[in-house]
Amino acid sequence: MRILVCGAGMAGLAAGITLGNTGHDVTIVERAQHLRVNGSPIDIRGESLAVAREMGILEGIRAREVDMTQRTCFVDGNGTKVADLPFEAINDSAGDIEIPREDLAHVLRNALGPSVALTFGESVADLHDDGGGVDVVLASGGRDRYDLVVGADGLHSATRRMVFGPERQYVRHLGFYTALASLPGYHPSDAPNPIYNYPGHMAGIVTYRDVALAVLTFRSSWIDYDYHDLDAQKRILTEQFGGHGRWRVPELLDAACRDSELYFDSVSQVDMPTWHRGRVVLVGDAAHCASPLSGRGTSLALTGTWLLAGALTENANDLAAAFVQYEHAQRPHVTYAQGTVDAGGDLLVPATQDAIDARNRELARAS
Ligand SMILES: Cc1cc2nc3c(=O)[nH]c(=O)nc-3n(C[C@H](O)[C@H](O)[C@H](O)COP(=O)(O)OP(=O)(O)OC[C@H]3O[C@@H](n4cnc5c(N)ncnc54)[C@H](O)[C@@H]3O)c2cc1C
Repeated sequence: MRILVCGAGMAGLAAGITLGNTGHDVTIVERAQHLRVNGSPIDIRGESLAVAREMGILEGIRAREVDMTQRTCFVDGNGTKVADLPFEAINDSAGDIEIPREDLAHVLRNALGPSVALTFGESVADLHDDGGGVDVVLASGGRDRYDLVVGADGLHSATRRMVFGPERQYVRHLGFYTALASLPGYHPSDAPNPIYNYPGHMAGIVTYRDVALAVLTFRSSWIDYDYHDLDAQKRILTEQFGGHGRWRVPELLDAACRDSELYFDSVSQVDMPTWHRGRVVLVGDAAHCASPLSGRGTSLALTGTWLLAGALTENANDLAAAFVQYEHAQRPHVTYAQGTVDAGGDLLVPATQDAIDARNRELARAS
């Protein structure tokens, strides 16, 4: 089949590998001008480890493993350690691998086969599914026809909006926003990665190898802003963290405001009754975002694209049956991952000073 994949995040690249390896002619379009490789290290967990082995990328992933999360602690406003972050509280399966996002992106990109084309600075402006194929109009003005369109364009998927309707029907905000920015000038050491809290806010530093990142997370109801507007994201962060002078909050906010590759988004989940319509199917966060609090978004992206490619192979002449098989096999992984987030927000971003103190006392007692 001729397949168009929208988005070259983890799900889009993984789809390129699995669909390319099963005999399809795949084009991936990515809206950004390059792979978006920022963000903190992510986890390859559970079943997705076996999928990574089948995809032939497990050794490449293992070779780039880091142990960032295992070295995390909570500090007070003076930077003094008050408690360790219990690793088992955020890691629920043995054998997980933590890998920097940029490393995984490059492992995936290097594993794309010869039948896969990757185009940057491109996206889908419009599409029309007439039952026999999908006519696509690209943002650059080009037109083409595909047998299948795969939406792998993340939490704010344009493919989902065009085919399934507005995102407010599907996106469930969990009450937090989070930002990650490069922190130049901070020199990583073997010391634990510090997290500082004040009511409803979390500021932290993530280090691995020679990289340092600022993390800023806060509690908030849904905020209406143009999520493509970097200045708007920085204004929101400044409204939230500006004026708080303790620990290194001003330094981290400054880093976020200077970073042209800032990652900022709501902590949300995507709930959809089905991930396919006609000849369009969704994978990764576009279909079933579990949120960064789950630590399983990338694992779901790998598992789902693997299951989709397998289902298309087993139901070569019946797209509808393939999609049903894909959804049936992937749904339990999603249900599990989405269900793991409940306690994470209260642990990492307590709402009140009393809750911060109680958490610290509890963790100090347990250690
Ligand atoms: C920059 C960035 C940083 C992240 N950092 C973290 C993190 O630190 N921790 C964490 O748990 N999760 C993080 N995530 C989310 C995590 O990558 C996903 O939950 C998971 O890997 C599933 O990936 P995905 O490919 O479905 O979605 P994403 O990783 O969000 O990838 C979607 C891709 O689609 C592209 N895209 C969007 N719209 C269009 C369009 N209309 N046309 C074409 N392309 C489009 C985006 O530019 C992006 O490359 C981050 C995501 C991004 C984009």
